[in-house]
Amino acid sequence: MSPLHYTLLGTGGSHGIPSIGCKCSVCTSPEPKNNRRRCSLHLSCENTHIVIDTPPDFREQVLTFALSQIDALFLTHAHADHIMGFDDVRRFSHQHATGLPVYSHPETLTQMHTKFDYVLQTSYAPDAVPNIRFIPQETATQIGPLTITPLPVPHGPIATYGYRIETAHHALAYIPDCQAIPVATLHLLEDLDLMILNALRPQPHPHHLTIEQSVNYLKQINARTSLITHITHKSDHHALQKQLTPDHIIVPWDGYTGTLT
Ligand SMILES: [Zn+2]
Ligand SMILES: [Zn+2]
Ligand SMILES: [Zn+2]
Repeated sequence: MSPLHYTLLGTGGSHGIPSIGCKCSVCTSPEPKNNRRRCSLHLSCENTHIVIDTPPDFREQVLTFALSQIDALFLTHAHADHIMGFDDVRRFSHQHATGLPVYSHPETLTQMHTKFDYVLQTSYAPDAVPNIRFIPQETATQIGPLTITPLPVPHGPIATYGYRIETAHHALAYIPDCQAIPVATLHLLEDLDLMILNALRPQPHPHHLTIEQSVNYLKQINARTSLITHITHKSDHHALQKQLTPDHIIVPWDGYTGTLT
């Protein structure tokens, strides 16, 4: 039974923590767990490595966590905090003769074409731009031992996916941005070893789950392990962990890693 390894490369909201110019107690905290880069997830099983989202901090995350291989990239949606490190897949994409496969919702890929219009132009030197293939995804995709199923979720007006990733023996799901989980998607979240769900802040937001809403969904999903992510400076790491411990929910930090065995 091959283990499935996961690492949260970033766990912060769209501003990251510290937020530029903010003097609040979380942004100025000496606790390293209160430093949060924008959200990204790395998964590996056997010799297959995938990454979900390339946030603005992507280069720094790759260097900090020593990633040396990506076999496929998945994008949840085209908000800046999930894609603006995309150019730095260059160092991985040229390991792929036919281009690094980049999977997402067809509408997300249309937005990627607009925001990164230079990527598919042929006038650049080969290693000056990412060598990628955009692959519209609406059903499950197999990458080595990993089956990756898109999970449609509402997140304001923009097409957004979470992903269920499974092997023959393990299953986890990752939804870093949503405002609700439709019933059809909840059915795809059954029998999970691990669920990672966004929990923005205590205060309501029209396009994100609050911490309370996230906790309620995590209890309903009832994965063996539950984590939250996409956390803002409204929450101190240790205070939030203390609050969520009775519900057996883990508040991770950047670099939080685990293995499903
Ligand atoms: Zn986001
Ligand atoms: Zn702050
Ligand atoms: Zn978003």
